[in-house]
Amino acid sequence: MSNSAIPVSSSAHRGPTLGFRGLDVLWLQVTGTVCNIACTHCFITCGPKNDSHPIMETQSVLDALEQARGLGVKEIYFTGGEPFLHPEILKLVEATLVHAPLSILTNALLLDDETCAGLARLERNSRYSLDLRVSVDGTTAEENDPIRGRHTFRRIMEGAHRLYRHGLNPVFTVTTVHAQYEGNEGRVQFLESLRELGFDRPRVKFIPPFHIGREEERGGAYPPGFQLSPGDLFEGEEQYLQCGSCRTVTAKGVYPCPILIEEDGARMASEIHDTLVPIELNHPACTTCHAEGFSCRT
Ligand code: SF4
Ligand code: SF4
Repeated sequence: MSNSAIPVSSSAHRGPTLGFRGLDVLWLQVTGTVCNIACTHCFITCGPKNDSHPIMETQSVLDALEQARGLGVKEIYFTGGEPFLHPEILKLVEATLVHAPLSILTNALLLDDETCAGLARLERNSRYSLDLRVSVDGTTAEENDPIRGRHTFRRIMEGAHRLYRHGLNPVFTVTTVHAQYEGNEGRVQFLESLRELGFDRPRVKFIPPFHIGREEERGGAYPPGFQLSPGDLFEGEEQYLQCGSCRTVTAKGVYPCPILIEEDGARMASEIHDTLVPIELNHPACTTCHAEGFSCRT
């Protein structure tokens, strides 16, 4: 295994080096870029017709989990695409919860009663936590549906309520594409609106838009030269940036984080153990993580 820093993109720009602290978090792109909807802000351009990262074989997921367990992983995330398109998702949830806490990022559109009951049973039988991160882009159909598609707000809320009724309090995940949710006042209002929608212990994670993938067309691309340079990181930043202690596995290999899987040159290696080295943050999206102190973790 080499100890030299691996650039996170094929850009010729030289970025700062971020040390690697150890594998605390493993992201599994269980359904790759395959999603049942095609949000206008999706930073990895997921959708029903994008299988550039295909759905992972069940055994590949189990192998990655086993490898990560051997490396001391503390927390697992399932994402995509839409994880509930995986034909054996509950088997994967069960296998994961034997060893570690799990968060699943979902649009909630496929969460029927049977699936929610299965998730609740697995959560009750595990010593580890199971969090469902439900993506939504506002507290009304008028805010959400232009981003996620017609009638999705109603259906997202139905899925979230099903989770709630089965004892799983979702973490709503909101990309701040609407200016009012960038500040504290708007965020407090968001929580209040969720209470009015019937979630009396609302949990919300706000995430900034990344100007890559489909978001390049909706909100605009990063301007030329918008990149970090050597010396821009503060001391100990690897404690805060998730890529200082996480890796992402897809059907095509291992990547530094879930944000860059569609970016040129971001693939690091085939096996997790070959990626536990410092990385060079030379992609424009790294400026967003640095400036916002952002992590995709729950
Ligand atoms: S943002 Fe999430 S739900 Fe929307 S297209 Fe991308 S992966 Fe699918
Ligand atoms: S985009 Fe963010 S999480 Fe990904 S490598 Fe850059 S700084 Fe790390």
